[in-house]
Amino acid sequence: MKIFCIGRNYVDHAKELNNPVPSEPLIFMKPSTALLVNNKHFYHPDYSNDIHYEAEIVLRVCKNGRSVQPEFASRYYDSVAFGIDFTARDLQDKLKAKGHPWEIAKGFDRSAPISKFIPLDGLKNKNEIEFQLKRNGEVVQDGNTKDLIFQFDTLICHLSKYFTLHTNDYIFTGTPAGVGKIEIGDLLEGFIEGEKMLSCQVR
Ligand code: ZN
Repeated sequence: MKIFCIGRNYVDHAKELNNPVPSEPLIFMKPSTALLVNNKHFYHPDYSNDIHYEAEIVLRVCKNGRSVQPEFASRYYDSVAFGIDFTARDLQDKLKAKGHPWEIAKGFDRSAPISKFIPLDGLKNKNEIEFQLKRNGEVVQDGNTKDLIFQFDTLICHLSKYFTLHTNDYIFTGTPAGVGKIEIGDLLEGFIEGEKMLSCQVR
């Protein structure tokens, strides 16, 4: 399986990190060893002093495909989960400054906590999905997928131009504003449409 991630897909987040708003989707990937499931603890690694949470809606691919055309794109995903794209911001900043790839800052072990998937059919509006991240009980990120720069269908078309999509590939669709540093002892909780989906304790 593949885990795709989309960077800077909300204008307010691109601005908070002083990044330009992209003209096409910014893609990176995490290995499958990054996944953290079943609300397991996240053990803070010692190679970073500045790990950020990034709350994201994650799409599940439900059909194999290449070069998917826009009119068929919505057939290629069927459910969503709440995910956190943990990012070692200090490592990422150093790598970015040198123009080097980000891999270790984004793809390290357990850097992708993810909830169970829920069918899109069960949601009020699959293009306007509300989600929140609470850190120690306080809402720190509050997003809605209607604000995505590149919507789900566009992501499917764009990704499948370069990478054959397989059933059970995941797409982290980007984070809204409000990213911040985690501390040991933090409790992170993710909500979709007000429903608690994910709980992750930082140890
Ligand atoms: Zn992200």
